[in-house]
Amino acid sequence: MTAIPLTSPSISEADIDTVVGVLRSGMLVQGEHVTALERDVAKYLDIRNVVAVSNGTATLHLALLSLGIGPGDEVIVPAFSYVATANVVEIVGARCVFVDVEADSCNIDIAKVPEAVTDRTRAMIPVHEFGLACDISPLVDLAAANNIPIIEDAACALGTTRDNRLVGTFGRVGSFSLHPRKAVTSGEGGLLVTDDDALAEQFRIMRNHGIQMRDERMHFVAAGFNYRMTDFQAALVRGQFARLDEILDRRNELADIYFDALAGAQNITLPVRPRDARHTWQTFHVMLAEEIDRDSMIDLLKDRGIGTNYGAQCIPAQDYYQKNYASDSREMFPNAWRAYRQGLALPMYANLSATEARQVAHTFRALIERGK
Ligand SMILES: *Cc1c(COP(=O)(O)O)cnc(C)c1O
Repeated sequence: MTAIPLTSPSISEADIDTVVGVLRSGMLVQGEHVTALERDVAKYLDIRNVVAVSNGTATLHLALLSLGIGPGDEVIVPAFSYVATANVVEIVGARCVFVDVEADSCNIDIAKVPEAVTDRTRAMIPVHEFGLACDISPLVDLAAANNIPIIEDAACALGTTRDNRLVGTFGRVGSFSLHPRKAVTSGEGGLLVTDDDALAEQFRIMRNHGIQMRDERMHFVAAGFNYRMTDFQAALVRGQFARLDEILDRRNELADIYFDALAGAQNITLPVRPRDARHTWQTFHVMLAEEIDRDSMIDLLKDRGIGTNYGAQCIPAQDYYQKNYASDSREMFPNAWRAYRQGLALPMYANLSATEARQVAHTFRALIERGK
């Protein structure tokens, strides 16, 4: 039994009541709560369009399709992320061009992007990994100079800032996930955001069977999907979204506890701690020294009632990519490989108490300093 899980959603009784209200109304599919969620998020991000869909992979899929990306095209993606970031590129028939991440931030290494650009590059999907903004402003400039659209994979980063601006709003499109691993959740869910009205219209058409409403009539203008969010999912996340700043402040307090309790510990490197930007701490990700067996550490912590896991994948090292890209990931993407092998995510969720966070840190510290 795990007494302290890796993650746990911040759902209140009021959130549950709102969901039950939707169930009682009988109006289950995309409806007024979806519309209200889209409106609330648009206001928060100060962006023209928010389109809610069924999950954070559907968002990326629709973004690529709506930008016309397909066979023969290349898309730049970080070598270290959740595998969905790359899978969507494969799904539309394009090719991933992987770029290694920075050793400390685990975010795409902007210095390595220029050499990855070719005359076939049609998009870049930078990721704000673990809720820490990547070096997005210079990347936007680089992309603009090459006329390449940016799709920000901000799945973990609703509320993250950089240069006094919320991420997801820097690129042509921003993508968020509302999976239970993220700070606020609809169960499954995703949000596409853009200032480009034509693109947003395309997202709305493609999420709903290719339907465009004109003259109050349905016109089937494309071969679309059913990527809609149900209304009870939107109802579940709306209350959490209203508490987003509170939830993120709490996560930052917990991160501070970890930093204090783990300061100076041997055999680990603590994560980057931004001074002038907001981190959502979707994951508190520490790097273990090479001589520590990370998977054994996960087991040892589990035996002590503490849930941990690795943080994300070195994508080119996964079976499918190894087979289809035949890259030597260790050599080509040493930082992504190392983060995948030696990274450890500690428990992080708003309802984790300060006492529990200290207990996690002390237990972990004792083990790691013994070289276990
Ligand atoms: C969670 C996540 C996704 C996928 O979102 P789902 O809602 O689970 O489909 C994509 N990219 C990143 C970086 C993620 O963390």
